Amino acid sequence: MQSSRTVSCPRCAKPVPWGPESPFRPFCSERCKLIDLGAWANEEYRVAVKHSDDDQDTASPEPERGAP
Ligand SMILES: [Zn+2]
Repeated sequence: MQSSRTVSCPRCAKPVPWGPESPFRPFCSERCKLIDLGAWANEEYRVAVKHSDDDQDTASPEPERGAP
């Protein structure tokens, strides 16, 4: 009986064999695990939530008023 399950690395989406040969599962490697943990530690995920740059064109409307 062969039970070869694979999961996708949450960091790089590489297929990771789900077993004792993958001590860093669900990550593919220690590197990905550390990167992911480091990202959380640095709150990198907060930066991902930003406003779209499309609004910046109209974000600063210049009032073109003549002299009163
Ligand atoms: Zn990975």
